[in-house]
Amino acid sequence: MTKPPHVTVWNEYRHEKRNAVVAKIYPDGIHQQIARHLQGEGFTVQTATLDEPEHGLTQDVLNQTDVLIWWGHMAHQEVADAVVERVRQRVWQGMGLIVLHSGHFSKIFKALMGTSCDLKWRELGEKERIWVVEPGHPIAAGLPEYFEIPQAEMYGEHFDIPAPDTLVFISWFQGGEIFRSGCCFHRGRGKIFYFRPGHETYPIYHQPEVLRVISNAIHWAAPVAGPEVKFGNFPTPLEKI
Ligand code: ZN
Repeated sequence: MTKPPHVTVWNEYRHEKRNAVVAKIYPDGIHQQIARHLQGEGFTVQTATLDEPEHGLTQDVLNQTDVLIWWGHMAHQEVADAVVERVRQRVWQGMGLIVLHSGHFSKIFKALMGTSCDLKWRELGEKERIWVVEPGHPIAAGLPEYFEIPQAEMYGEHFDIPAPDTLVFISWFQGGEIFRSGCCFHRGRGKIFYFRPGHETYPIYHQPEVLRVISNAIHWAAPVAGPEVKFGNFPTPLEKI
């Protein structure tokens, strides 16, 4: 049996400390809610937050991490560029990265996408219907044709990202907008999954379908034992020239 992936759940962890509504939904923080669920699923899980030294993302922590989950919103600019670069290097080396919701504007996601990652948004607590558009994809395993989030913040197109390698989910919102809400990318050896749900004032990370997607995405994004990559000058050809 292969070892379960080692997951690090990173959270900015500011809203929960400042906003009573958010604190009620996530008394121990969004990271602990997700981590508890993943532990129950058999993953090896640790958490890291912005206010820890090096944001909890030392080289050692990243080296042990197969898949990093990222939630941030109000303090993207406080994430040190050196840590962003460290995470980017690990993704290129094969670490999986799952970027949640407002993480679309994180330094690390923008650095890996190379675009503004901007979008439309509105906060009215409207219904979101998430359609599975790639039903054979491992991230869609166990899901129905669509599922709904009763109250969500709207994110609308245009979402300024590069065309995803695979689009797994499209969201429809009560107000009429749509959004590419489950996007797969490859960067170097690493796999990246952007997953839209997760506004802090709604109990979205308590919803079974949403948690199922995160678990599925970890399995998809986990590194594989592919061949060692070699770069540089190779003066001796494999065949006689
Ligand atoms: Zn939000």
